[in-house]
Amino acid sequence: MANQPAIAIHGLTKSYGKVRALRGIDLEVQQGEIFGFLGPNGAGKTTTIRCALDLIRPDGGSIRVLGIDPQANPVAVKARVGYLPGELQLDDNLTGEAQLHFLNELRGRKADWHYVRELAERLDLDLKRPIRNLSKGNKIKVGVIQALMHRPELLMLDEPTFGLDPLMQQEVLRLLVEAKRTGATVFFSSHILSEVQAVAERVGIIRRGKIVEVAGVQTLINRSLRRVRIQFRHDVDPTPLTQVPGVALLKRDNGRAVTLQVEGEMDALLKAVAAYPVVDFETERPSLEEIFLTYYADERNSHKTEE
Ligand code: ATP
Repeated sequence: MANQPAIAIHGLTKSYGKVRALRGIDLEVQQGEIFGFLGPNGAGKTTTIRCALDLIRPDGGSIRVLGIDPQANPVAVKARVGYLPGELQLDDNLTGEAQLHFLNELRGRKADWHYVRELAERLDLDLKRPIRNLSKGNKIKVGVIQALMHRPELLMLDEPTFGLDPLMQQEVLRLLVEAKRTGATVFFSSHILSEVQAVAERVGIIRRGKIVEVAGVQTLINRSLRRVRIQFRHDVDPTPLTQVPGVALLKRDNGRAVTLQVEGEMDALLKAVAAYPVVDFETERPSLEEIFLTYYADERNSHKTEE
């Protein structure tokens, strides 16, 4: 079906003994989008991905990956998904190339070897070297290539750039954008917010086993509070400005400069400011990183009540 979600997860729960890792996850990833899965350490990202690929069994809830129930048909799901695990296990005795051949056999020989060679070149990886001689970053590159090599319609990548140097991180992100251009869906977890902001259209934020936000990256940023710094030519009493709905005074540097926080549209504030001679007016939106930290702050605040 053309319009079914690439991933549909509802009410997913999973405990490890007493640890309630997933407390009812609801998540839908649409076909053809790049979706960033964000959350602090231990939030449940890896557990969610493993359940979706039937590498571990959840306690409850439903999962469909490309319309398939992974518990009923795990082989079909794995054949159509490119998966990069967070903790990649490779065979030290093989070369990178032999490892890729081995995985390709398991996957029904669907790899595109021209693409594999292109990927190795772009990632600056020598496939002839034994895996035991590869650095950690180079092993991750083998993992990235095995996830991409059969040009899967869905990529599920657990921290794909973790452990790579900044140039290689950029290259991997370019590969994700290119995969999307050819019609693939990309679902990846990350701690690096700038990279999520750079490539993802939507993000899901998970905290303590629950999804706390799913939104477009730009929507999340637009919805957030802005900071405005105004420098006046003369001393100004900021009271009329702070009486504008949605405006709060953050700082008054001296009589001539104020920093305000603005929620919603700027129109009313601009009209109020126009009554004074203005030297400079700067406005700044928080980055995704700052927004994300507010979710982390909530996490610290709500830690005790959720125990
Ligand atoms: P990170 O960003 O640190 O990789 P994560 O969001 O991927 O974290 P998970 O690895 O899914 O989080 O872990 C969720 C919770 O489940 C954590 O409290 C973790 O300690 C616990 N957990 C994960 N795997 C196991 C396991 N095999 N046995 C016991 N507890 C586990």
